[in-house]
Amino acid sequence: MTTHTLDICGVHVSPHHYIGGQRSTSPESFELHSPIDQRLLGHVSEGGAEHVDAAIQAAQQAFPAWAALGAEKRKGFLDRFAEEIGKRADAFCVLESNDAGVLLSRMRHGVVPRAMLNISWFAEHALRLQERQIETDQALHRIRHDPAGVVAIITPWNSPLMLATWKLGPALAAGNTVIIKPPEWAPLSSSLLADAANAAGLPPGVVNIVQGRGATTGARLVSDPRLARISFTGSVPTAKWIAQTAGANLVPCSLELGGKSPFIVLEDADLDNAAATGALMYRNAGQVCLAGTRFLVHKRVAGAFIERMRGYVERLNIGDPRDEHTEVGPIIHPRQVERVKGFVDRAVSAGAKVLWGGALHPYGAQYFQPTMLTDVAQDSEIVQNEVFGPVLTLQTFESDAEAVRLANDVDYGLGGVCYGETARATAVAEQVHTGFIWVNSFGIRDLAAPFGGCKRSGIGREGGDWSFEFFCDIKDVIVPNKPFRASFSQR
Ligand code: NAD
Repeated sequence: MTTHTLDICGVHVSPHHYIGGQRSTSPESFELHSPIDQRLLGHVSEGGAEHVDAAIQAAQQAFPAWAALGAEKRKGFLDRFAEEIGKRADAFCVLESNDAGVLLSRMRHGVVPRAMLNISWFAEHALRLQERQIETDQALHRIRHDPAGVVAIITPWNSPLMLATWKLGPALAAGNTVIIKPPEWAPLSSSLLADAANAAGLPPGVVNIVQGRGATTGARLVSDPRLARISFTGSVPTAKWIAQTAGANLVPCSLELGGKSPFIVLEDADLDNAAATGALMYRNAGQVCLAGTRFLVHKRVAGAFIERMRGYVERLNIGDPRDEHTEVGPIIHPRQVERVKGFVDRAVSAGAKVLWGGALHPYGAQYFQPTMLTDVAQDSEIVQNEVFGPVLTLQTFESDAEAVRLANDVDYGLGGVCYGETARATAVAEQVHTGFIWVNSFGIRDLAAPFGGCKRSGIGREGGDWSFEFFCDIKDVIVPNKPFRASFSQR
């Protein structure tokens, strides 16, 4: 076991793999820089074929005993795991604000408590799954949720701790063993999760972490036919590749992908409330899959709405995510900054008008001004494609039907927001083809509720029973309630 750790502002974290309960290193590594100021945080091990193989073997070995424990005993382990995450709350805040640029305040008040809940809530929920039965006049059907086996979890960089635990909780509670391939631009919180799992006494091999880049380590992992499931959150191009690769092995995938969600403001909306919520779309520098990024505003109220939202946007505190007062932090990586800038420059060249923002922010090299573009065509690149940065578009409409048509006229279908008189806004929301939509609100979530996208935004749903349906082999054990005698005339 190697003892080499990185020191991230006083927090010590391993940059290596965690396989079979042990840290292991690779000869290859990649550099990790902070999005705050581009400083080198350290070198992270890059998993090769041997590390992926070792992790799968460790997970396979650990599987029978973990699966046989039963939900109740697993809950004991997982409650301790959640506690160990809580004990490291400050460390998680420091790591994720430094490597992913997530606001420290958001980590402390939102992400870390949610990460703990992601583990403990699913552990509790798994107890109820065991009880399902269907009784007919012929037989008792005992519906079992059996663990599927070894599960690969692949997460993106925009909220690594929240997304890893959101998958890990149900996967482990169901009795699977897991290999996490964290995002190469923000891998540190996943490494600390391994320390929490170890401290909680999770048996070796139940949770494994293989660090590495997507095109190398990630690709090796998802190509392995020994996997029972692949749970992926990330971009559409990667998802297509994973789905094809997993398809060759008939390994089921859950795919949570990008969004280009509408933010609809009807003519009878509370404009001030809508504008205040609108400014929230710049949270995490716009690197939020579920943000409403296409503003569709009724023509009669567009001018007033724009001025109100401008007021909220001008008051946003932009700066270092480690400062408790900061509301908008940096963009994850120089490549992502270039991508965001490219989208804006091309839109402006094509005739878009900049309502605010539109350029790099003077705070630092990886900061971009909260931006709103208007005069954009429905079929333009900026309206049709996910930017994943602090860049929004605004279009107007003249009827509810036109709002619905514009909202649905993209390939994505993740989420949405609709502001207006409640009954009318609800009726519009029901016609928007997405996996979820908030009426006169934003961001209300519940672990029991389904989460996921339609169209190019994904395949499958996570949350509550939906997570268990994916991570389990559902099996019907049929016991007749009167003596059964074989007969060819029987169906
Ligand atoms: P990405 O697809 O580039 O990478 C996601 C993960 O996949 C990373 O860990 C990466 O290393 C890995 N990966 C890349 N290529 C791979 C391959 N060939 N095989 C296996 N793994 C591979 O996405 P990203 O840029 O990290 O994340 C941003 C995207 O994630 C956006 O599109 C965003 O909308 C989406 N996202 C969706 C949700 C959701 O719940 N729907 C949540 C957060 C982010």
